[in-house]
Amino acid sequence: MASSTDSARAREAAIEIVRTLRDAGHIAYFAGGCVRDELLGLEPTDYDIATDATPDRIRSLFPRTAAVGAAFGVILVRIGRIVVEVATFRADGPYTDRRRPDAVTFSDPVADAQRRDFTVNALFIDPSADEAHRIIDHVGGIADLRRRTIRAVGDPDQRLAEDHLRALRAVRLASRLDFTIDPHTAAAIRRHTLDLNGVSRERIGEELRKMLLHHSRARAITTLQQLGLDAPVLGEAAADPPVQLAARLPEELPGPAAFALVLAAWVLDRGLVLDSPAVPETVARLRAGLCLSNQERDDLAAILGGLLALVSKWGSMSVAQRKRAASAAWYPPTRELLRARSPEVASAVERVVGELARTPSGLAPEPVLTGDDLVAAGYKPGPAFRQALETVYDAQLEGRVTDRAGALELARGLGI
Ligand code: ATP
Ligand code: MG
Repeated sequence: MASSTDSARAREAAIEIVRTLRDAGHIAYFAGGCVRDELLGLEPTDYDIATDATPDRIRSLFPRTAAVGAAFGVILVRIGRIVVEVATFRADGPYTDRRRPDAVTFSDPVADAQRRDFTVNALFIDPSADEAHRIIDHVGGIADLRRRTIRAVGDPDQRLAEDHLRALRAVRLASRLDFTIDPHTAAAIRRHTLDLNGVSRERIGEELRKMLLHHSRARAITTLQQLGLDAPVLGEAAADPPVQLAARLPEELPGPAAFALVLAAWVLDRGLVLDSPAVPETVARLRAGLCLSNQERDDLAAILGGLLALVSKWGSMSVAQRKRAASAAWYPPTRELLRARSPEVASAVERVVGELARTPSGLAPEPVLTGDDLVAAGYKPGPAFRQALETVYDAQLEGRVTDRAGALELARGLGI
């Protein structure tokens, strides 16, 4: 999340760019998400500028630029530490790869507003104009902001057919802002759900990641299911069960396993049985379908496996097993899931973990005996050697071994 000073600095930089463009005789507006967010009283994360200056002209006016999307008329302008996207007004040509228009034509503000996805994303602000002329609305975006409605610009079927990812963008925007999706746009999304299969899995995964990491995740999941987008996103039959676990997770989910945690909550809400072959199958399907990283895939598997351990094996675990579980990387996210699923079980587990943390050896002490110690004592590394170290560490966790001498004595008795 950008801090308010970051947002204010980005705005200053954007104003400076608009001023430079205007002084050179051009039209220049704030455009897209920053306009929507400003008008809603939210803090934009970044500012985008739309102008009638061509990419070459933009590059000649600013000393520090990068032409990442020059073919689409997008130039990055750097002011201090801030990078602002400056894009030439354009009309998008036909889409054939459902991702990027085949060609763009530089155009005027009206066409530029019309190529944008939703009316609330198609507004401009002229920061240099007086109050009465500041907002430029060619598509009825202001009325939709007031109605808190996400509506496609133009014909919704056609706009979705051009780029099916817009269906997910609509859900993300609506859930984040707590807006509703206009019925015609929603109906078009429903008609096009299966077309989402034509969108790259990477882009789908990225949209879903943004949706589920935001605290409006339960609304997003509900809307995805109501529109039938759950099927193409998850690669399973459409279903609309109540969103319970995902709704009970805390708003802020720190940590690298947050996306895996919400995915786990969602698939459990959809009826995944923890102790079943469907678990590895689901993990593999989501990994491919959402382009999960290896880490995210491992986190998802570990959270589902960890939850099973906490709900059905905890009672029969030894002290060492419990300490190992409580200090595993999967424990913090899994504890959140357990709190959401069975608060009493979660408190009982957490009470025990608290007690274990207060034992003299703690939850995860430094091992008193290491492989180096065993080598120094004349043992040869190998599987039995590793097993002995584990056994000795378990004894340490259980307080049966407290120093190196005791640990070596135990290791000797293990026949390595
Ligand atoms: P966020 O706060 O998530 O960045 P945003 O509206 O700024 O929201 P971006 O992806 O940064 O979203 O896109 C900037 C603008 O570009 C949008 O507001 C919209 O006008 C336009 N846009 C983005 N993606 C599409 C798309 N797939 N189709 C049409 N217009 C799009
Ligand atoms: Mg943006």
